[in-house]
Amino acid sequence: MYSTTSNQQLTDLAASYGTPLYVYNADKISEQYQQLQTAFEGVNSRFFFACKALTNINILKHIRSLGCNIDCSSINEAHLAIRAGFDPKNILYTSNGIAFDEIETAVDLGINVNIDSLSNLEKFGKKYGHNYPVGIRLRPNILAGGNLKISTGHEKSKFGIPIEQLDQLLALVKQYNIYIAGLHIHTGSEIKDVAVFMQVADIFFDLVPHFPEIHFLDLGGGFKVPYKEEEAGTDIPLLSAKVQESLKNLAATYQRNFQVWFEPGKFLVSECGSFITQVNVLKENAAATFVGINSGFNHLIRPMFYEAYHRIRNISNPDGPIKHYAVTGNICETDTFAWDRPLNEVREGDLLVFDNAGAYGFEMGSNYNSRFLPAQVMIKNGVAFLIRKRDVLEDILRNQIELD
Ligand SMILES: *Cc1c(COP(=O)(O)O)cnc(C)c1O
Repeated sequence: MYSTTSNQQLTDLAASYGTPLYVYNADKISEQYQQLQTAFEGVNSRFFFACKALTNINILKHIRSLGCNIDCSSINEAHLAIRAGFDPKNILYTSNGIAFDEIETAVDLGINVNIDSLSNLEKFGKKYGHNYPVGIRLRPNILAGGNLKISTGHEKSKFGIPIEQLDQLLALVKQYNIYIAGLHIHTGSEIKDVAVFMQVADIFFDLVPHFPEIHFLDLGGGFKVPYKEEEAGTDIPLLSAKVQESLKNLAATYQRNFQVWFEPGKFLVSECGSFITQVNVLKENAAATFVGINSGFNHLIRPMFYEAYHRIRNISNPDGPIKHYAVTGNICETDTFAWDRPLNEVREGDLLVFDNAGAYGFEMGSNYNSRFLPAQVMIKNGVAFLIRKRDVLEDILRNQIELD
């Protein structure tokens, strides 16, 4: 269930490269992708890795080598995808709130685009008419996802064209003869319940007659992975069975075939990642015993930003007695990773490892407090490679202009 990187290997890597350190096991990514391929065998489907979860160029190249496609959330990610060797036709840019010139660049690159506003759709229609196929991102008014910050389909969400504006949308499509190739709805992250995806499929079902040229239906990403010990993720085989059923219905009703697209981010890269930190100080207190580690929300913000749970293990004392701790960072902010967390007895210098650290860990990191971003290591076929150096002071100063 968790990353296959052993404690011994993590300890050795900490000794070689120092801490804090992100470690990604590429073999686990392959395993996750294979799980999708196996479940969706025989289903007309394509998977696009939502790369904002983890964009190191070596990870992108590994994912390309698996035969997976890629979904980008900025034009820079699209440039990275091309740099990683993805064929433009396997790159998707699902935009939100972007300037139109990024869409023009996307068209110049020859990649797939999902447009998320009537404003950009109109500009697109004026410039390209029927000459370039495009997808449209819709907002279905469904509340789903692990919490409101990662929920994108509800009625107060900025994402997508609200479904109640369908008439305006269709008027634009007609006026400029826009080539609508597909529909896209991403309801959010950590969607455990397959029924949410099926709710979206039902919405698509009703929309299809309005769009005679569409051939793909993009259900977005957001497959849940287990973070807690006893948690279950999205039931992928069940999802596949339901999707297959839905595609059959569509084909029977409309006499045409549709392809389903998915954009998993977390599902592919969350569990491959381990984040190794070291204990700086122990601080006894009436409220808690604080374990002060050499990291903070500048390296892993999910616990503070989303109140996300990450499993933490003391790999330096795996047989020590269980005690309860508050695990905190060294940033001048309240950066609590975990409160009242049972851990094997912690001593200063011990290595604490965060599981499920592959997705939205390093990517959401910053240099706050002028601290360095961690180094990154990728393990492939059991062999470890440094794929990003730890920052040095020059990196902090790099774009500053020092006046006399
Ligand atoms: C972030 C995002 C995803 C991936 O979400 P995960 O929870 O990581 O699977 C997919 N599609 C879009 C449009 C996104 O913004």
